[in-house]
This record gives sequence, C-alpha cells and structure tokens, in this order.
Amino acid sequence: MAYQTTNPYNNQVIKTYQNISDADLAQALTATHQQYQDWRSQPVSDRAVILHRIAKLMRTEKTSLAKVVTQEMGKLIGESEDEVELCANIADYFADHAADFLKPTPLKTGIGEAYYQKQALGVLFMVEPWNFPYYQIMRVFAPNFMIGNPLLLKHASNTPGSAAAFVEVIRRAGAPVASLINLFVDYDQVAKAIADPRVVGVALTGSERGGASVAQTAGANLKKSTMELGGNDPFIILDDADMTKVAAWAPAARLANAGQICAASKRFIVMADKYEDFLKLLKTAFAAVKPGDPMDRATTLAPLSSARSKATLQKQVDAAIAGGAKVYYGNEKIDLSGQFFQPTILTDIDQNNPVYNQELFGPVASVYKVHSEAEAIQLANDSSYGLGSAIFSEDTKHAQAVASQIEAGMTFINRAWATLPELPFGGVKNSGYGREMYELGFDAFVNEHLVVNA
Ligand code: NAP
Repeated sequence: MAYQTTNPYNNQVIKTYQNISDADLAQALTATHQQYQDWRSQPVSDRAVILHRIAKLMRTEKTSLAKVVTQEMGKLIGESEDEVELCANIADYFADHAADFLKPTPLKTGIGEAYYQKQALGVLFMVEPWNFPYYQIMRVFAPNFMIGNPLLLKHASNTPGSAAAFVEVIRRAGAPVASLINLFVDYDQVAKAIADPRVVGVALTGSERGGASVAQTAGANLKKSTMELGGNDPFIILDDADMTKVAAWAPAARLANAGQICAASKRFIVMADKYEDFLKLLKTAFAAVKPGDPMDRATTLAPLSSARSKATLQKQVDAAIAGGAKVYYGNEKIDLSGQFFQPTILTDIDQNNPVYNQELFGPVASVYKVHSEAEAIQLANDSSYGLGSAIFSEDTKHAQAVASQIEAGMTFINRAWATLPELPFGGVKNSGYGREMYELGFDAFVNEHLVVNA
C-alpha cells in the first residue's frame, strides 16, 4: 500500500510517502520501549503539563491543522476545526483526570489491607482510520500518554499528512519523540510489530475486516486489544416523537462528515403514522445541501474521502436497488470533478436485500416503516453491528426502557450521536469490543496491580 495524500475535491496528488524499512521499525520498537522504562520513574504530573500544552498549541494552530485534514480527506473546513477543538478537549480532560483515575482503589478482604494500583503496561500499537484523522489518534494517545504507555501508530494510507502533522504538533509542545512514533508500514510490518514482545497491546479503529485481521494477530500473540469497528446505527422514531426535534437532528445525524462516521445514524426506523412526514422532512434537508469546495465555508456537502470510497458506496447503492430498494431521493450524479455523492434516501429494503446488513459509509439513509414498537426494536437489533443508536420519544422513562432493549454500546435519547471525552465510546457485536474515552477508555491498557499487606 502506498501512503499518499490525494485531495478528493480536485483529485490532485499532493504528496507520496516512502514506507519505512524493517530496521526503522526495529529502532522505533527500541525507542518506545525505552520511553516506557523512563516514564516509570517520572511523575504523572509532568506529563499533565505537556498534555495541557498540546491542547493549547492545537487550539492556537487550529486553522492550519484543520486545513491538512480538509485537503487530505475532504472534510468541510468547519468540521475539521471542530475536530481539532475536540482533540484539545480530550487532551485537557485526560490531563485533568489522570491523577484521580490512577489513585489506588482499596479492597475489602479478610486477609489484610488490600488495594490495586493502575500501572502502565508498556508499548501499544494503534491502527487508525482516515475519517477523523486527528481525533482517532488523540482518543488513544491522551489517556496512554498519562498512563505511561508509549504508542506506535499505523495510520490510514490516505491520511499520512494528518498523522505527520499530529506528531509534529505534540513534539513541539514537548512530548518526547518516543511517546508516539508514526510509522509508514505495510500490513506485514504491523503483524511483526504486534508479535514483538515489547508491544503489549493493540488498539484499532476501522472496518470489521481490518479489525478481524489485526485482532487475530493480537490474539495469536496473546496481546490485549480494543476494537472500534463499523456501525449500522438505528434512529428510532416512536409514536410520541416530537417531529421538530427529529427534523433538527436527523439530517445531520446522517450527513455530518459526508456520512462517513461509524456512529452516524444509518437506518431510520419510523412508526407508520410518522413515516411520510419523516421522508418529506429528510428529503427537504437532503435537497438543501450545497456541494462544493470543502475549504469554502458556504459549502455544506463535502466530497467523500477518496475515489475508492465513492465507488464502494455506489456499488452498494446499485446492489440495493437491484435487490428491490426504492430511491425516494438522490442517487444522481453531482456535476463536480471531486468524489461527491448526492445525499440519497432508500426505502423498501427487505431482509433479503444485499445492503440490509451492510454499513453504507456515506450520505445514504435507509428508511424503514414499522407498525409497532416491538417491530422497531426487533429491526434495530437485527444487525450484526451494535455501535450507537438514537430514540426519539417525548416520554423519557419509556425511551430509557426501550434503550435497555437495544443491542448497542450507546443510545442517545432525543438527540443524535455525540463523542465527548467524559462519555465512553464503543460498541458490541461486530462493532467491536472495549471502550475509548472516559475512565473506561483510560483503563483499557493498565495493569490493575493488586497489593495485599497481611
Ligand atoms: P479499514 O480498511 O479497516 O482501515 C482502518 C485502518 O486499518 C487503516 O489504517 C488501514 O490501513 C488499517 N488496516 C486495515 N486492514 C489491516 C490489516 N490487515 N493489517 C494492518 N492494518 C490494517 O477501515 P476503513 O474502511 O478505511 O475505515 C472506515 C471504517 O472504520 C468504517 O467501518 C467505520 O465505521 C469504522 N470506524 C469505526 C469507529 C469506531 O469508533 N467504532 C470510528 C471510525 C471509523 P490502510 O489504510 O493502509 O489500508
């Protein structure tokens, strides 16, 4: 695979990067392992100072950092700026809370005084995707920087510039070189690094296929792993939903980041009484988008991240239609040279349709009509994925009861998905395992070291 930056708005190749040699990889392993040893004798408060500095520098350089992402994977410039801001918030959060998370936990036992203390584990390997090129790194980097677990990074082959920019900014803020080393490596080198005894854990965000492959390598080498994979999240509109709230949330729940979000709402499950109203409001919003240069703040529809992403999505939509789905809106060519995909609404997808259990990673909404709440829940759960979900109802208690029946890692009531450092993020089923963010994410790679004093 070639690491290359290609602007999906104008298809210009901006830069191609050389893969590293096995000797470079060996050096990175040695350096990160040494960093782990060094950190063991250094107070965590020193790292909090650096992490706060990273947050500050990212905010100061928000515009230039955002530009790298927009040129590389096409995201709207405002969304790229929001991503940089979110990274700064994550850094501040873990800098502020790490000391608390690391306090020893006393345990009751009849054999003496007991406690466990969270300690660093060692070097981690992370594999990250292109859809949030900075945020995906930060949600692993910030907690592990505080814990004292250095990181090796393999970023997506189409966002090498973002990986390089991230590393550059944290170094200028004072992070040691070996706290995070970005590697332009191929899949074999990833497997080699994971097998190295100095690497103790693996964090991957990406597709089911990539996750299964890397998790297999981690498992074969008895390395702990977290997997943040795809989603086919339901957005359930119950009988008593307030349609003004639905109208305020549904379009962006699907279209943000040009629809390329794991926890975006992808399947809209609507009670029969509200079905026609919902289709109309979604169509109005989808028809109002303005495709164009993602650097232009007036643009509201960005191109997809690459020609390959667009081709994959088109193939899926074509297969859906061939399998009986109806196009309620969209699926027409956008007359621009970039990788644009018109927001599209599909209906009449039955269980036999090839896309029924597929993630559509772009601005395509699948809308389902249901006749009872039980049917809505059954349909929501009839998926191999289980990442996020949304429920719209004016009866909060009832919505919470419905939430408890949804097979998902996250449910949002009367709003769409969100990701914040204080909220755990992750899924069940083929959406993966483990959590990132909050204390649960912090705890993903620690040694809960028990000490008993008789
Ligand atoms: P992908 O193909 O799995 O790629 C993700 C990363 O994994 C890339 O860095 C990729 O490298 C690497 N990779 C893939 N197979 C590998 C292997 N066998 N060995 C080593 N590295 C490997 O995923 P994608 O399709 O680009 O990304 C979108 C997917 O990510 C969607 O399914 C989305 O839902 C999911 N996602 C999940 C979350 C979450 O938090 N749950 C968040 C964001 C995205 P190359 O680029 O070099 O192939």
